[in-house]
Amino acid sequence: MADPSAARLIIDLDALAHNFAVLRAHAGGAAVAPVVKADGYGLGAGPIARRLWREGVRALFVARLAEGEALRAALGKDRPATIFVLDGLTAGSEPRLEAAGLTPVLAALRQVSAARAYAAATGRPMAVALHVDTGMNRQGLTVDEARDLAQAAEDLRGVSVVLLMSHLGSAADPTDPRNAEQLARFAPVRALYADSPASLSASAGIFLGEGYRHEVVRPGVSLYGGGPLERPDARLRAVATLTAPILDTRDLRAGDRVGYGSTMIADRPMRVAVVGAGYADGVIRASRGRGYAWFAGQRRALLSVTMDMLVIELGDVEAQPGDDVELLGPNVHLDDLAAAAGTVAHEVLFRLSPRAVRTYKGES
Ligand SMILES: *Cc1c(COP(=O)(O)O)cnc(C)c1O
Repeated sequence: MADPSAARLIIDLDALAHNFAVLRAHAGGAAVAPVVKADGYGLGAGPIARRLWREGVRALFVARLAEGEALRAALGKDRPATIFVLDGLTAGSEPRLEAAGLTPVLAALRQVSAARAYAAATGRPMAVALHVDTGMNRQGLTVDEARDLAQAAEDLRGVSVVLLMSHLGSAADPTDPRNAEQLARFAPVRALYADSPASLSASAGIFLGEGYRHEVVRPGVSLYGGGPLERPDARLRAVATLTAPILDTRDLRAGDRVGYGSTMIADRPMRVAVVGAGYADGVIRASRGRGYAWFAGQRRALLSVTMDMLVIELGDVEAQPGDDVELLGPNVHLDDLAAAAGTVAHEVLFRLSPRAVRTYKGES
């Protein structure tokens, strides 16, 4: 039985479908291949991918091999999507990749050699993606390596490159010259792999302009409601809504301290509500003092966050134990909470914990 004092997490797959449509419209003719790594940014890769399949998605990205295996099982035989694994080939992973029908994203020459060796040993060709580093300096073949590889056909024997990709390091800031630099470095590599579709942009890159879209885009966070510029974007809907009930209300006098230590001292008399959710449910503690919650049609300052409880300022509104407070959702923007906590929307989503009772809306 659901605990009446538990925090509740609603994952709205209709909102996800809406965001997908927004991204597809901005992607021009490019295919949208959503990123559902880390269990769909913590929101549940299975239900998310099944709904996206219904919306027309036929390729998805995960980070780890095990995520790919779980996603293949969740999609089942009736939804034979291409699943790209960003980790590529790790030692001994080839049979598991093949068994689950996963496409590794090769990011180093040793991974290319391993793919070629596996294809030679089994006599079966291997479909792969190639990741080229155009300036993020994190992952990928160098531009020179990618060029040499394209020019030495025997190095790719048995390996078919079904996607050529790179990743932008500064797309959330459209004024950063690194975007154009990376785009320019990608162009000649793309020309060498003219038969392979190309992909450069994640959520933010889609909004940088037509030149950044190529044949495939790979949005993650914006599908889940995070603005491409790391601030709330009115075109996107909240996919995750976290609510929790008020446990109690109290009146503070000026000088009263709330919770542990002296991090929150009332500077005037105020009414507050104690709410049944805390950092164990995913409300990041560092957002206290800067974040807000939503109650009775207004923003309410988030004063304190402990493991199981948090405190908000009520103002002069009536409130009863059991009344619901929104802690993340349509009125408490993901990007605002991320800014308040000094992090990115991706991390806010991922922190949402299994303790909050989950419900999916619009499941396929
Ligand atoms: C995580 C990731 C994405 C998605 O990024 P968002 O900012 O969430 O849209 C796309 N491509 C690669 C290579 C990634 O690692």
